[in-house]
Amino acid sequence: VVVLGIESSCDETGAGLVRDGRLLGHAVASSMDEHARFGGVVPEIAARAHVHALRPVVGRALDEAGLRMTDIGAVAVTAGPGLAGALQVGLAGAKGLAYGLGVPLYGVHHLAGHVAADTLAHGPLPDPCVVLIVSGGHTSLLLVRDLARDPVVHLGDTRDDAAGECFDKVARVFGLPYPGGPAIDRAARDGDPRAVAFPRPLTGPRDDPYAFSFSGLKTAAARWAESYGGRPLPVADGAASLQEAVADVLTRKAVAACLAYGVDTLVVVGGVAANSRVRSLCEERCADAGILLRVPPLRLCTDNGAMIAAVGDLLVRAGAAPAPLDLTVGPSAPLELALLQPRGWTG
Ligand code: ATP
Ligand code: MG
Ligand code: FE
Repeated sequence: VVVLGIESSCDETGAGLVRDGRLLGHAVASSMDEHARFGGVVPEIAARAHVHALRPVVGRALDEAGLRMTDIGAVAVTAGPGLAGALQVGLAGAKGLAYGLGVPLYGVHHLAGHVAADTLAHGPLPDPCVVLIVSGGHTSLLLVRDLARDPVVHLGDTRDDAAGECFDKVARVFGLPYPGGPAIDRAARDGDPRAVAFPRPLTGPRDDPYAFSFSGLKTAAARWAESYGGRPLPVADGAASLQEAVADVLTRKAVAACLAYGVDTLVVVGGVAANSRVRSLCEERCADAGILLRVPPLRLCTDNGAMIAAVGDLLVRAGAAPAPLDLTVGPSAPLELALLQPRGWTG
């Protein structure tokens, strides 16, 4: 069946269509520009933007796939985690479509979507694989078996900020435009990654090998900026050095996890997987360690509906039970199962 995926957990409204692991079409609208002057996502603005964008985005995805609404055989929707109001818009739309078309509805975990994004580019995930999720709100190392059936094992998570959050906050301190991650990536092109000796948090011999911490790095970057006391900041050097520190820690721990668990495939997903240095350092170190690296193409790294459709497609083919129409959102649902069907959740 053709699965429609709907994503609305943050500031991107996404719709995607997937059948048997193949992406047929997708479209994304973003309210990013409306948040820029506030320096971060404003939940009410995001929710309202989803209301306006949802139907047109579904239409564009259908057009790209050359399909009609009545070709949809199942609807998958991000049920959490994310902004409650934003999630509710996508869920309400998904329920309406599923009920109107008389097709099953599946509530999907947003992070399982980020993981499944890679299957659209590179085929089914090997069982097991190590997955590094690095996004705006999460940084985790996971051991993934069958995404549609088995609970994922968290090898380690961030103890404070996510890697993307670190990029976004430091970019503000450096006076770079919103959103910060891509701005740091661009600025770093002209910088020296060895210019500033930023710390490599939690990489000591006694530290948890798979846990992350990025708030200290954020503070170190702020201190470095302050040390210029108003004189012009060599932003390119700061950005390159910060990016190097983040990429170094992420890849070191991900490769170590693969070797320790005897897993030959590393999958790197989420918005920060779009970072050029994270990608290149992962390539170098995986090649050295004999690990197969999988990273989705850029447009599937950041939030989109195709990745949610990909999870829905896996769930349909695994024979998962559809959600009841009183499915509610789980704004802070932890990643355990890809199928996220909270009822009466207060999250
Ligand atoms: P989550 O998935 O954890 O709920 P989110 O959906 O907001 O959070 P994503 O859309 O996966 O996050 O990713 C957005 C994050 O990715 C932002 O923090 C953004 O700065 C970062 N990002 C995007 N492109 C790049 C890049 N080239 N370099 C570094 N960071 C990037
Ligand atoms: Mg976003
Ligand atoms: Fe995301």
